Amino acid sequence: MNITSLGEIIAQMNELIARGAECYFKFTCASCGVRQTSETPNAIHLHGYKCEECGNITTLNDIELNGSAGFMLVARKETE
Ligand SMILES: [Zn+2]
Repeated sequence: MNITSLGEIIAQMNELIARGAECYFKFTCASCGVRQTSETPNAIHLHGYKCEECGNITTLNDIELNGSAGFMLVARKETE
């Protein structure tokens, strides 16, 4: 699912968690463009995410400002 704002992604995550899903936050590095998935389920790190490829920290602010960076949720263990 593609989400366009931070408020939306949080609302979506809460809804999925309420339905028993395990959510992982996916983001695209603002520096090198590699797409990565957070290892922590059901959490959004407000301080940002470190890219495993280039070491750049992509913050939620970067993500919100740059729509092309893109971010999304991956849900696992969805029950219904
Ligand atoms: Zn990177």
